[in-house]
Amino acid sequence: MCERGEIVTTARLRRSGVSGQALRQMVDAGTIHRARRGVYTTPATCPAIRAVAAHGGRVGCLTAARHLGLWTLSPPGAPHVWMCDGQRRYHDTGCGCVEHWDDGPRGDAGATPSVPRILCQIFRCVGVEEFFVVLESALRQRMITEEGLRWLRKRSNAVMREALTLARDDADSGLESLLRWRLRRHGLRVRTQRSIASVGVVDALIGDRLLVETDGVEGHNSAPHRHKDLVRDAHAALWGYMTLRFDYAMVVHDWELVEAAILGALRTLGGARP
Ligand SMILES: [Zn+2]
Ligand SMILES: [Zn+2]
Repeated sequence: MCERGEIVTTARLRRSGVSGQALRQMVDAGTIHRARRGVYTTPATCPAIRAVAAHGGRVGCLTAARHLGLWTLSPPGAPHVWMCDGQRRYHDTGCGCVEHWDDGPRGDAGATPSVPRILCQIFRCVGVEEFFVVLESALRQRMITEEGLRWLRKRSNAVMREALTLARDDADSGLESLLRWRLRRHGLRVRTQRSIASVGVVDALIGDRLLVETDGVEGHNSAPHRHKDLVRDAHAALWGYMTLRFDYAMVVHDWELVEAAILGALRTLGGARP
């Protein structure tokens, strides 16, 4: 959860007993910033949320998902704004914010849409792969209920239903989710976060003998970390496993190579298909 996401409205401030005069004093003192009429942010508010507050509407889609601490594949970019109930845009046209116009319950400027609604917005705006990644993150972090999943199923098409059926609650990163999603057509047995004797917990075990590690952005370049990885790979080989390592750029942008490497390794290992 981003702690820097607070949007406050005059109405909310009034409800908590802040008078008009006190509000003016807070603005003068820089305790809060005026984003537009009746809507304020705090000095700590993160840039994406500040942009949404100034644009008009509420935080939505990828911006809302990131704000709640759900992992996403796409790096932070333009703010996604939910303009439910025909809310007004206060930015000039062409400001770069991505607007969402789906109907939904009216709420405070600072209110985040429900997780199922955020997922629905992501599916329509960014596509099924990002949807799948955020869905698995929500399942992992217990941020979506059975009722929320039913709500999504009611609004799903065939592709979304496939994602809902495949989704699990044990993925440890967006890369793992994407790996499973993109491999789904090959009928492989992909098990994530498996503990392998003398190796440790691996990101994915494909078939019975292929270990796939998906290295995130941070970490694996430092000498101690690299040494640890090499020791793991040696232990894995000793016990008859093959290890393939892919980073974010490969899984996301060079999938053809990743897929070919996995299928090639499985052929080499022989009989690894279920
Ligand atoms: Zn969007
Ligand atoms: Zn804007």
